[in-house]
Amino acid sequence: MSSSFHQMWEELRPLGRDSSSGGYRRFAWTGADTDCRAWFRAQAEARGLAYELDRNGNQWAWLGATTYRDVAPGEAVVTGSHLDSVPDGGAFDGPLGVVSSFAALDELRGRGTEFTKPLAIVNFGDEEGARFGLACVGSRLSAGALTTEAAHRLRDGDGVTLPQAMERAGHDPEAIGPDPERLAAIGAFVELHVEQGRALDLSGDPVGIASAIWPHGRWRFDFRGEANHAGTTRLEDRRDPMLSYAATVLAAREQARLAGALATFGKINVEPNGVNAIPSLVRGWLDARAAGQDTLDTVITGIERAAAERAARDGVDLDVVRESFTPVVEFQHALRDELGALLGKRGERPVPVLGTGAGHDAGILSATVPTAMLFVRNPTGVSHSPAETAAEDDCVAGVTALADVLEGLACR
Ligand SMILES: [Zn+2]
Repeated sequence: MSSSFHQMWEELRPLGRDSSSGGYRRFAWTGADTDCRAWFRAQAEARGLAYELDRNGNQWAWLGATTYRDVAPGEAVVTGSHLDSVPDGGAFDGPLGVVSSFAALDELRGRGTEFTKPLAIVNFGDEEGARFGLACVGSRLSAGALTTEAAHRLRDGDGVTLPQAMERAGHDPEAIGPDPERLAAIGAFVELHVEQGRALDLSGDPVGIASAIWPHGRWRFDFRGEANHAGTTRLEDRRDPMLSYAATVLAAREQARLAGALATFGKINVEPNGVNAIPSLVRGWLDARAAGQDTLDTVITGIERAAAERAARDGVDLDVVRESFTPVVEFQHALRDELGALLGKRGERPVPVLGTGAGHDAGILSATVPTAMLFVRNPTGVSHSPAETAAEDDCVAGVTALADVLEGLACR
């Protein structure tokens, strides 16, 4: 492995790592996040790059410019990813893209590459949404996909608002808002990311190019019944929302299987949450994704119907609220094809192009900026877990691929 990659990886490894789980807890605007941000800034300064923190708390490291204001519209080539994590996340989701960006720059300098365009490396803040419940807050704010007012209303599990959290971490929350001129400076954004599935493992390729991000969303199912004593209430007399919920979980699995989609209940609240109490409320969150909008609609309709039917049988009231939704994102075909051509020069066979069910900052930016993604093989497909991994050789292949792409885009 290239020495700079290895050294960066070792420096980043202990930051925000929980010793009991071995997973990462790098939540937005916490101490672990501050440590990661300090690491980013140090990497920028060690390379003589101009460091810039934007109004939404995203970090930028510039080569050939000191800020986007120095850059003509569409001139900048930008790469990067995020450093925050989900609860007990793995080491690779996000950091692999940031570390590979600095390592690719090191490789290009080693090749003696002359840049003809400004280059920036970016760390987007709060990508995972682990703390405030909304993913890609940094890039959404910049792109205007999240309004300042809505961002001010975001709260974490302890009731701390996003502005309060920002302020405590030393960032001025009054500054947040859309950043159209900054985004207009970007001619191409390329995000390298560990694959969150096994497509590359199955095809036998270390690196792939993204085609699209599947449409995906989160729905909240509230099943309301009647709390009662688990030891004295006859089965016939119960209005037990746990039964309706359990049936809905199975229905979600069945609907997703039939449609070739994905549907998951991964979070649940129960009231009163007592071992010897029939619940009064079961609140479950459904995450659903599919390759196409029609398929996703079919799956959601099927799950809602099954939930309603079962709730009626159980004497339970049901409310379903769509809490967030992201339509399909097709990455720009011209840039995608250009990446394919640049990477095709090395190999004897074309680099595979694959879709993904996971959301990314690149997906948010793609509405206004030509955007592409590179995926690095994940041998188990496991992601959002301490078991998430990538082989050293594949990480090196990812750095080389990113270097080739940046050389092609920023050195002509
Ligand atoms: Zn990620």
